Amino acid sequence: MTYVVCEPCIGTKDTACVDACPVDCIHPTKEEAEFEAAEMLYIDPAECIDCGACVPACPVEAIFEESEVPEKWTDFTAKNAEHFLK
Ligand code: SF4
Ligand code: SF4
Repeated sequence: MTYVVCEPCIGTKDTACVDACPVDCIHPTKEEAEFEAAEMLYIDPAECIDCGACVPACPVEAIFEESEVPEKWTDFTAKNAEHFLK
């Protein structure tokens, strides 16, 4: 299982979740070169430990546990995973 960043992050991208994550699996961070061009942030499903700490940190409720991702945003589960396959 993993947590997934969904549509509300687009246009917000404030990185509050990055500071909350104990294993630094949310990217790109502001320190990464690709941050400016990135549409949103993504959670690495291979690194996420399912702690849920990022959920309350997000001001726009963009983060969901994989099985709780709203129907309209289910494609974001793959989008998060694909970001780390590049
Ligand atoms: S659930 Fe925990 S480990 Fe996974 S992205 Fe959120 S803060 Fe990081
Ligand atoms: S806290 Fe929410 S809006 Fe901000 S970068 Fe993380 S997922 Fe995106």
